[in-house]
Amino acid sequence: MPRLTGLTRFFWEGAARRSLLILRCQECGYYTHPPRPVCRSCLSMELAPEEVSGRGAIYMYTVAVTAFHPFWKDKVPYTIAVVELAEQPGLGVTTNIVDCPEKLLRVGLPVEATFVETAPGLTLPMFRPAIRATGPRAASEVVDRSEDSARPAATAGR
Ligand SMILES: [Zn+2]
Repeated sequence: MPRLTGLTRFFWEGAARRSLLILRCQECGYYTHPPRPVCRSCLSMELAPEEVSGRGAIYMYTVAVTAFHPFWKDKVPYTIAVVELAEQPGLGVTTNIVDCPEKLLRVGLPVEATFVETAPGLTLPMFRPAIRATGPRAASEVVDRSEDSARPAATAGR
């Protein structure tokens, strides 16, 4: 169970509300994660948690097949990954990938945040494949949208 220190408390409390919060510099807009008291970009100490989109891509991953702690015994294999968030290049979150067959795993796979209650009162942000962004349904949505935008132009021509 993560320890709730002053600097990381917002992250876990956000997760409990199903919100992915990342520290953001209020001076220059740079995100910093894991939480640090000082902005990596401009050294400002004016950092505040802000909700992010939860979208990103797998930057690196490993599949754990051995449980090193009894807690994980019925959970192997599980996937540990660093997900690069869409908000900023290099903004990585260490997490677990869920709802993803091992054969689908690859660096660069688009993922989205999901919140998993792993124990009573403990909700962790994890990531799953962003199927809606790449699946057939997304393709039809793109077609629908282009038809919508084409319609006013067509009527304007009459
Ligand atoms: Zn800054």
